[in-house]
Amino acid sequence: MRKPVTDLIHHPYQPPAGFDAPQPGVFKASTVIFANVAAMRARDWKQKKGYTYGLHGTPTTFMLEERIATLEGGRQCILLPSGLAAIANVAMALLKTGDEVLIPDNAYGPNKALADGELRQWGITHQLYDAMNPADLEARIAPQTRLVWLEAPGSVTMEFPDLPELARICRRKGVTSALDNTWGAGLAFNAFDLAPGAGEPLAVDISVHALTKYPSGGGDVLMGSVVTTDEALHQRLKLTHMRMGWGVGGNDAEAVLRSLPSLPLRYRAHDLAARELARWLRKRPEITQVLHPAIEGAPGHAHWEALCGPRDAAAGLFSVVFDERFSPAQVDAFCDALKLFKLGYSWGGPVSLAVPYDVPSMRSTRLGSWKHQGTLVRFSVGLEAVQDLRGDLEQALAALQS
Ligand SMILES: *Cc1c(COP(=O)(O)O)cnc(C)c1O
Repeated sequence: MRKPVTDLIHHPYQPPAGFDAPQPGVFKASTVIFANVAAMRARDWKQKKGYTYGLHGTPTTFMLEERIATLEGGRQCILLPSGLAAIANVAMALLKTGDEVLIPDNAYGPNKALADGELRQWGITHQLYDAMNPADLEARIAPQTRLVWLEAPGSVTMEFPDLPELARICRRKGVTSALDNTWGAGLAFNAFDLAPGAGEPLAVDISVHALTKYPSGGGDVLMGSVVTTDEALHQRLKLTHMRMGWGVGGNDAEAVLRSLPSLPLRYRAHDLAARELARWLRKRPEITQVLHPAIEGAPGHAHWEALCGPRDAAAGLFSVVFDERFSPAQVDAFCDALKLFKLGYSWGGPVSLAVPYDVPSMRSTRLGSWKHQGTLVRFSVGLEAVQDLRGDLEQALAALQS
Protein backbone atom coordinates (compact mmCIF):
# COMPACT_ATOMS: atom_id res chain seq x y z
CA MET A 1 0.00 0.00 0.00
CA ARG A 2 1.35 3.41 -1.04
CA LYS A 3 1.40 6.03 1.71
CA PRO A 4 -1.12 8.90 1.35
CA VAL A 5 1.70 11.46 1.17
CA THR A 6 2.84 9.89 -2.11
CA ASP A 7 -0.73 9.93 -3.42
CA LEU A 8 -0.88 13.65 -2.72
CA ILE A 9 1.80 13.97 -5.40
CA HIS A 10 0.97 11.03 -7.69
CA HIS A 11 -2.81 10.90 -7.33
CA PRO A 12 -4.64 8.38 -9.53
CA TYR A 13 -7.65 10.66 -10.18
CA GLN A 14 -7.87 12.14 -13.66
CA PRO A 15 -10.64 14.68 -14.31
CA PRO A 16 -12.82 13.90 -17.35
CA ALA A 17 -11.41 15.20 -20.62
CA GLY A 18 -13.24 17.69 -22.82
CA PHE A 19 -13.66 20.58 -20.37
CA ASP A 20 -14.43 23.79 -22.22
CA ALA A 21 -14.98 27.31 -20.88
CA PRO A 22 -14.75 30.86 -22.27
CA GLN A 23 -11.25 31.36 -20.85
CA PRO A 24 -8.41 28.89 -21.49
CA GLY A 25 -6.96 27.13 -18.46
CA VAL A 26 -3.68 28.20 -16.89
CA PHE A 27 -0.79 25.81 -17.31
CA LYS A 28 2.18 26.49 -15.10
CA ALA A 29 5.38 24.51 -15.41
CA SER A 30 9.08 24.46 -15.10
CA THR A 31 9.20 20.65 -15.40
CA VAL A 32 7.25 19.01 -18.21
CA ILE A 33 6.71 15.27 -17.77
CA PHE A 34 7.49 12.83 -20.59
CA ALA A 35 5.86 9.43 -21.11
CA ASN A 36 9.20 7.69 -21.71
CA VAL A 37 12.82 8.30 -22.64
CA ALA A 38 12.12 8.04 -26.36
CA ALA A 39 9.52 10.84 -26.05
CA MET A 40 11.98 12.90 -24.04
CA ARG A 41 14.65 12.54 -26.73
CA ALA A 42 12.23 13.15 -29.62
CA ARG A 43 10.88 16.49 -28.39
CA ASP A 44 11.96 19.58 -30.29
CA TRP A 45 11.41 22.77 -28.30
CA LYS A 46 11.78 24.97 -31.41
CA GLN A 47 8.50 23.90 -32.98
CA LYS A 48 5.15 24.17 -31.24
CA LYS A 49 4.55 20.45 -31.62
CA GLY A 50 5.17 19.45 -28.02
CA TYR A 51 6.52 20.56 -24.69
CA THR A 52 10.00 20.17 -23.24
CA TYR A 53 10.42 22.65 -20.40
CA GLY A 54 8.36 25.51 -19.02
CA LEU A 55 10.82 28.07 -20.33
CA HIS A 56 10.15 26.90 -23.89
CA GLY A 57 6.40 27.14 -23.66
CA THR A 58 3.19 25.74 -22.22
CA PRO A 59 -0.31 25.55 -23.76
CA THR A 60 -1.03 28.92 -22.08
CA THR A 61 1.97 30.75 -23.53
CA PHE A 62 1.59 29.11 -26.97
CA MET A 63 -2.02 30.30 -27.08
CA LEU A 64 -1.08 33.86 -26.17
CA GLU A 65 1.77 33.86 -28.72
CA GLU A 66 -0.59 32.83 -31.52
CA ARG A 67 -3.16 35.50 -30.58
CA ILE A 68 -0.57 38.29 -30.42
CA ALA A 69 0.87 37.23 -33.80
CA THR A 70 -2.66 37.41 -35.25
CA LEU A 71 -3.35 40.78 -33.60
CA GLU A 72 -0.30 42.30 -35.26
CA GLY A 73 -0.71 40.68 -38.66
CA GLY A 74 2.42 38.54 -38.22
CA ARG A 75 3.10 34.81 -38.20
CA GLN A 76 5.36 34.03 -35.23
CA CYS A 77 5.57 35.48 -31.72
CA ILE A 78 7.93 35.21 -28.76
CA LEU A 79 6.84 36.31 -25.27
CA LEU A 80 9.23 38.00 -22.85
CA PRO A 81 9.02 39.19 -19.25
CA SER A 82 8.81 42.89 -20.26
CA GLY A 83 8.66 45.16 -23.27
CA LEU A 84 12.23 46.19 -22.61
CA ALA A 85 13.35 42.53 -22.55
CA ALA A 86 11.72 42.19 -26.01
CA ILE A 87 13.81 45.14 -27.24
CA ALA A 88 16.95 43.59 -25.71
CA ASN A 89 16.17 40.20 -27.29
CA VAL A 90 16.13 41.79 -30.75
CA ALA A 91 19.41 43.62 -30.17
CA MET A 92 21.20 40.63 -28.70
CA ALA A 93 20.03 38.22 -31.39
CA LEU A 94 20.97 40.42 -34.34
CA LEU A 95 24.03 42.46 -33.31
CA LYS A 96 27.66 41.53 -32.75
CA THR A 97 30.91 43.45 -32.16
CA GLY A 98 31.54 45.90 -35.00
CA ASP A 99 27.88 46.22 -35.96
CA GLU A 100 25.85 49.42 -35.69
CA VAL A 101 22.23 50.01 -34.73
CA LEU A 102 20.25 53.15 -35.64
CA ILE A 103 17.70 54.43 -33.13
CA PRO A 104 15.29 57.38 -33.45
CA ASP A 105 16.28 60.27 -31.20
CA ASN A 106 12.70 60.28 -29.88
CA ALA A 107 12.66 56.51 -29.17
CA TYR A 108 11.56 54.91 -25.91
CA GLY A 109 14.39 56.06 -23.59
CA PRO A 110 15.53 52.68 -22.21
CA ASN A 111 16.15 51.44 -25.79
CA LYS A 112 18.72 54.25 -26.16
CA ALA A 113 20.12 53.49 -22.68
CA LEU A 114 20.68 49.83 -23.66
CA ALA A 115 22.61 50.97 -26.74
CA ASP A 116 24.62 53.43 -24.68
CA GLY A 117 25.35 50.85 -21.97
CA GLU A 118 25.61 47.14 -22.73
CA LEU A 119 25.74 47.38 -26.53
CA ARG A 120 28.55 49.93 -26.42
CA GLN A 121 30.37 47.74 -23.89
CA TRP A 122 30.18 44.84 -26.36
CA GLY A 123 31.65 46.91 -29.19
CA ILE A 124 28.32 47.56 -30.91
CA THR A 125 27.94 51.20 -31.93
CA HIS A 126 24.74 53.19 -32.34
CA GLN A 127 23.64 56.42 -33.96
CA LEU A 128 20.55 58.44 -33.23
CA TYR A 129 18.57 59.67 -36.22
CA ASP A 130 15.80 62.21 -36.74
CA ALA A 131 12.73 60.06 -37.41
CA MET A 132 10.88 63.05 -38.90
CA ASN A 133 13.50 63.29 -41.63
CA PRO A 134 13.73 60.07 -43.71
CA ALA A 135 16.77 61.47 -45.56
CA ASP A 136 18.61 61.60 -42.22
CA LEU A 137 17.98 57.87 -41.69
CA GLU A 138 19.01 57.06 -45.25
CA ALA A 139 22.26 59.02 -44.92
CA ARG A 140 23.22 57.22 -41.70
CA ILE A 141 22.81 53.68 -43.01
CA ALA A 142 26.34 52.33 -43.51
CA PRO A 143 27.81 48.91 -44.35
CA GLN A 144 28.05 48.10 -40.62
CA THR A 145 24.37 49.00 -39.97
CA ARG A 146 22.60 45.77 -39.04
CA LEU A 147 19.43 47.00 -37.36
CA VAL A 148 17.18 50.06 -37.55
CA TRP A 149 14.66 50.78 -34.82
CA LEU A 150 11.42 52.52 -35.79
CA GLU A 151 8.80 53.94 -33.47
CA ALA A 152 5.50 55.69 -34.22
CA PRO A 153 4.85 58.11 -32.70
CA GLY A 154 7.98 59.20 -30.85
CA SER A 155 8.09 58.61 -27.11
CA VAL A 156 6.81 61.51 -24.95
CA THR A 157 7.01 64.14 -27.74
CA MET A 158 4.59 62.14 -29.94
CA GLU A 159 5.80 63.22 -33.42
CA PHE A 160 4.38 60.79 -35.99
CA PRO A 161 6.97 59.86 -38.64
CA ASP A 162 6.42 58.77 -42.23
CA LEU A 163 6.63 55.13 -41.14
CA PRO A 164 6.07 53.56 -44.59
CA GLU A 165 8.88 55.68 -46.01
CA LEU A 166 11.27 54.73 -43.17
CA ALA A 167 10.42 51.03 -43.71
CA ARG A 168 10.92 51.46 -47.47
CA ILE A 169 14.42 52.88 -46.89
CA CYS A 170 15.37 49.91 -44.66
CA ARG A 171 14.02 47.52 -47.28
CA ARG A 172 15.89 49.24 -50.11
CA LYS A 173 19.15 49.25 -48.12
CA GLY A 174 18.68 45.63 -47.04
CA VAL A 175 18.80 46.43 -43.30
CA THR A 176 16.59 44.65 -40.76
CA SER A 177 13.91 46.97 -39.37
CA ALA A 178 12.35 46.56 -35.93
CA LEU A 179 9.32 48.63 -34.94
CA ASP A 180 8.38 49.41 -31.35
CA ASN A 181 4.67 48.90 -31.98
CA THR A 182 3.40 49.51 -28.45
CA TRP A 183 1.43 52.66 -29.32
CA GLY A 184 -0.29 51.15 -32.39
CA ALA A 185 -0.88 47.88 -30.50
CA GLY A 186 -1.72 46.10 -33.76
CA LEU A 187 -4.91 48.19 -33.94
CA ALA A 188 -4.01 51.63 -35.33
CA PHE A 189 -2.21 50.13 -38.37
CA ASN A 190 -0.75 46.85 -39.59
CA ALA A 191 3.05 46.85 -39.19
CA PHE A 192 3.31 44.06 -41.74
CA ASP A 193 1.25 45.88 -44.37
CA LEU A 194 2.12 49.58 -44.13
CA ALA A 195 0.93 50.47 -47.64
CA PRO A 196 -2.21 48.35 -48.21
CA GLY A 197 -3.03 47.61 -51.80
CA ALA A 198 0.50 48.27 -53.08
CA GLY A 199 1.22 44.76 -54.36
CA GLU A 200 3.92 43.05 -52.27
CA PRO A 201 3.22 44.15 -48.65
CA LEU A 202 5.49 46.87 -47.30
CA ALA A 203 6.40 45.41 -43.90
CA VAL A 204 8.78 45.91 -41.04
CA ASP A 205 10.81 42.79 -40.27
CA ILE A 206 10.11 42.74 -36.54
CA SER A 207 7.36 44.22 -34.38
CA VAL A 208 8.04 44.60 -30.67
CA HIS A 209 5.11 45.28 -28.36
CA ALA A 210 5.07 46.09 -24.64
CA LEU A 211 2.07 43.92 -23.74
CA THR A 212 2.41 45.67 -20.37
CA LYS A 213 0.33 48.48 -21.88
CA TYR A 214 -3.01 47.86 -23.64
CA PRO A 215 -2.97 44.05 -24.01
CA SER A 216 -2.57 43.71 -20.23
CA GLY A 217 -4.88 46.66 -19.70
CA GLY A 218 -4.65 46.49 -15.92
CA GLY A 219 -1.39 48.21 -15.04
CA ASP A 220 -0.53 44.98 -13.23
CA VAL A 221 1.42 42.79 -15.68
CA LEU A 222 4.84 43.23 -17.28
CA MET A 223 5.25 41.42 -20.61
CA GLY A 224 6.65 41.94 -24.08
CA SER A 225 6.40 40.27 -27.48
CA VAL A 226 8.47 39.98 -30.65
CA VAL A 227 6.39 39.29 -33.76
CA THR A 228 7.78 38.36 -37.18
CA THR A 229 6.64 36.93 -40.51
CA ASP A 230 9.89 35.20 -41.50
CA GLU A 231 10.48 31.78 -39.92
CA ALA A 232 14.30 31.95 -40.15
CA LEU A 233 14.36 35.35 -38.44
CA HIS A 234 11.95 34.07 -35.79
CA GLN A 235 14.19 31.06 -35.09
CA ARG A 236 17.21 33.32 -34.71
CA LEU A 237 15.37 35.47 -32.17
CA LYS A 238 14.02 32.38 -30.42
CA LEU A 239 17.50 30.86 -29.98
CA THR A 240 18.65 33.98 -28.14
CA HIS A 241 15.40 33.99 -26.15
CA MET A 242 16.07 30.39 -25.06
CA ARG A 243 19.73 30.99 -24.24
CA MET A 244 18.94 34.07 -22.16
CA GLY A 245 16.13 32.29 -20.31
CA TRP A 246 13.53 35.02 -20.87
CA GLY A 247 10.38 33.01 -20.08
CA VAL A 248 7.02 34.31 -18.83
CA GLY A 249 4.83 32.82 -16.12
CA GLY A 250 1.48 31.13 -16.76
CA ASN A 251 -0.50 33.44 -14.48
CA ASP A 252 0.76 36.54 -16.27
CA ALA A 253 0.04 34.99 -19.69
CA GLU A 254 -3.47 34.14 -18.50
CA ALA A 255 -4.03 37.71 -17.28
CA VAL A 256 -3.23 39.01 -20.77
CA LEU A 257 -5.36 36.31 -22.44
CA ARG A 258 -8.25 37.42 -20.23
CA SER A 259 -7.86 41.06 -21.27
CA LEU A 260 -7.33 40.48 -24.99
CA PRO A 261 -11.00 40.14 -26.05
CA SER A 262 -11.75 43.65 -24.79
CA LEU A 263 -8.57 45.19 -26.26
CA PRO A 264 -10.21 46.89 -29.30
CA LEU A 265 -13.05 48.27 -27.15
CA ARG A 266 -10.68 49.62 -24.52
CA TYR A 267 -8.30 51.06 -27.12
CA ARG A 268 -11.19 52.92 -28.74
CA ALA A 269 -12.47 54.22 -25.40
CA HIS A 270 -9.01 55.47 -24.37
CA ASP A 271 -8.64 57.07 -27.82
CA LEU A 272 -11.96 58.94 -27.79
CA ALA A 273 -11.43 60.29 -24.27
CA ALA A 274 -7.84 61.33 -24.99
CA ARG A 275 -8.82 63.19 -28.17
CA GLU A 276 -11.61 65.01 -26.34
CA LEU A 277 -9.24 66.12 -23.56
CA ALA A 278 -6.48 67.02 -26.02
CA ARG A 279 -8.90 69.23 -28.03
CA TRP A 280 -10.10 70.88 -24.84
CA LEU A 281 -6.55 71.56 -23.65
CA ARG A 282 -5.67 73.05 -27.03
CA LYS A 283 -8.00 75.96 -26.26
CA ARG A 284 -6.50 76.65 -22.84
CA PRO A 285 -4.25 79.73 -22.57
CA GLU A 286 -1.79 77.89 -20.29
CA ILE A 287 -0.90 75.41 -23.09
CA THR A 288 1.19 76.37 -26.13
CA GLN A 289 1.07 73.02 -27.91
CA VAL A 290 -0.87 69.78 -27.71
CA LEU A 291 1.16 66.84 -29.01
CA HIS A 292 -1.33 64.21 -30.15
CA PRO A 293 -0.78 62.78 -33.62
CA ALA A 294 -4.51 62.56 -34.38
CA ILE A 295 -5.07 66.26 -33.58
CA GLU A 296 -4.70 68.79 -36.38
CA GLY A 297 -1.54 70.88 -36.09
CA ALA A 298 0.44 68.31 -34.09
CA PRO A 299 3.81 67.26 -35.54
CA GLY A 300 3.37 64.42 -38.01
CA HIS A 301 -0.43 64.69 -38.07
CA ALA A 302 -0.46 64.19 -41.86
CA HIS A 303 1.59 60.99 -41.49
CA TRP A 304 -0.82 59.74 -38.82
CA GLU A 305 -3.73 60.57 -41.14
CA ALA A 306 -2.17 58.64 -44.02
CA LEU A 307 -1.38 55.51 -41.98
CA CYS A 308 -4.06 55.42 -39.25
CA GLY A 309 -6.78 57.58 -40.86
CA PRO A 310 -8.54 54.61 -42.51
CA ARG A 311 -9.04 53.04 -39.07
CA ASP A 312 -9.32 56.46 -37.34
CA ALA A 313 -7.36 55.01 -34.42
CA ALA A 314 -4.84 56.31 -31.90
CA ALA A 315 -3.74 55.34 -28.41
CA GLY A 316 -5.00 57.33 -25.41
CA LEU A 317 -1.68 59.04 -24.91
CA PHE A 318 -0.72 62.66 -25.50
CA SER A 319 1.52 65.41 -24.20
CA VAL A 320 1.11 69.14 -23.72
CA VAL A 321 3.71 71.90 -23.61
CA PHE A 322 3.01 74.57 -21.03
CA ASP A 323 3.54 78.22 -21.80
CA GLU A 324 7.10 79.18 -20.93
CA ARG A 325 5.88 81.75 -18.41
CA PHE A 326 5.23 78.74 -16.12
CA SER A 327 8.36 77.50 -14.37
CA PRO A 328 9.07 73.76 -14.13
CA ALA A 329 8.21 74.05 -10.42
CA GLN A 330 4.78 75.51 -11.28
CA VAL A 331 4.15 72.67 -13.73
CA ASP A 332 5.17 70.20 -11.01
CA ALA A 333 2.59 71.88 -8.76
CA PHE A 334 -0.04 71.42 -11.50
CA CYS A 335 0.80 67.70 -11.58
CA ASP A 336 0.65 67.49 -7.78
CA ALA A 337 -2.77 69.17 -7.82
CA LEU A 338 -4.24 66.45 -10.07
CA LYS A 339 -6.51 64.09 -8.18
CA LEU A 340 -7.90 61.53 -10.64
CA PHE A 341 -4.76 61.59 -12.81
CA LYS A 342 -2.15 59.76 -10.76
CA LEU A 343 1.60 60.29 -11.05
CA GLY A 344 3.21 57.20 -12.51
CA TYR A 345 5.03 55.66 -15.43
CA SER A 346 3.66 53.31 -18.05
CA TRP A 347 0.20 53.50 -19.62
CA GLY A 348 -2.64 51.42 -20.99
CA GLY A 349 -4.44 50.70 -17.72
CA PRO A 350 -7.77 51.99 -16.34
CA VAL A 351 -6.15 54.71 -14.20
CA SER A 352 -5.25 57.99 -15.89
CA LEU A 353 -1.62 58.99 -15.40
CA ALA A 354 0.52 62.12 -15.76
CA VAL A 355 4.30 62.58 -15.90
CA PRO A 356 6.25 65.85 -16.31
CA TYR A 357 9.29 65.51 -18.57
CA ASP A 358 12.36 67.66 -19.17
CA VAL A 359 12.59 67.03 -22.92
CA PRO A 360 15.92 68.80 -23.67
CA SER A 361 17.73 66.37 -21.32
CA MET A 362 16.23 63.43 -23.27
CA ARG A 363 17.15 64.49 -26.81
CA SER A 364 20.38 64.78 -28.74
CA THR A 365 21.42 68.43 -29.02
CA ARG A 366 23.09 67.61 -32.34
CA LEU A 367 19.77 66.79 -34.00
CA GLY A 368 18.13 69.81 -32.36
CA SER A 369 14.61 68.71 -33.24
CA TRP A 370 12.99 69.97 -30.00
CA LYS A 371 12.14 73.66 -30.33
CA HIS A 372 9.89 74.36 -27.33
CA GLN A 373 10.93 76.21 -24.16
CA GLY A 374 8.06 75.26 -21.85
CA THR A 375 7.75 72.16 -19.69
CA LEU A 376 6.02 69.09 -21.10
CA VAL A 377 3.51 66.86 -19.33
CA ARG A 378 2.45 63.53 -20.77
CA PHE A 379 -1.01 62.17 -20.04
CA SER A 380 -2.14 58.58 -20.33
CA VAL A 381 -5.93 58.68 -20.39
CA GLY A 382 -7.55 55.81 -18.52
CA LEU A 383 -11.14 54.63 -18.51
CA GLU A 384 -12.67 57.12 -16.07
CA ALA A 385 -15.57 59.32 -17.28
CA VAL A 386 -14.09 61.98 -19.54
CA GLN A 387 -16.11 64.78 -17.84
CA ASP A 388 -14.51 63.89 -14.51
CA LEU A 389 -11.04 63.89 -16.07
CA ARG A 390 -11.68 67.28 -17.66
CA GLY A 391 -12.85 68.60 -14.28
CA ASP A 392 -9.63 67.31 -12.72
CA LEU A 393 -7.49 69.08 -15.34
CA GLU A 394 -9.51 72.26 -14.91
CA GLN A 395 -9.04 72.43 -11.13
CA ALA A 396 -5.31 71.67 -11.46
CA LEU A 397 -4.93 74.41 -14.08
CA ALA A 398 -6.65 76.78 -11.65
CA ALA A 399 -4.00 75.85 -9.05
CA LEU A 400 -1.32 76.73 -11.59
CA GLN A 401 -2.66 80.27 -11.97
CA SER A 402 -2.86 80.95 -8.25
C1 LIG B 1 6.47 50.70 -21.88
C2 LIG B 1 7.17 50.69 -23.15
C3 LIG B 1 8.20 49.78 -23.40
C4 LIG B 1 8.74 48.84 -22.36
O1 LIG B 1 7.80 48.01 -21.78
P1 LIG B 1 8.04 47.43 -20.30
O2 LIG B 1 7.14 46.25 -20.26
O3 LIG B 1 7.67 48.52 -19.34
O4 LIG B 1 9.48 47.04 -20.21
C5 LIG B 1 8.79 49.81 -24.64
N1 LIG B 1 8.39 50.67 -25.59
C6 LIG B 1 7.39 51.54 -25.39
C7 LIG B 1 7.00 52.46 -26.49
C8 LIG B 1 6.75 51.59 -24.17
O5 LIG B 1 5.78 52.48 -23.96
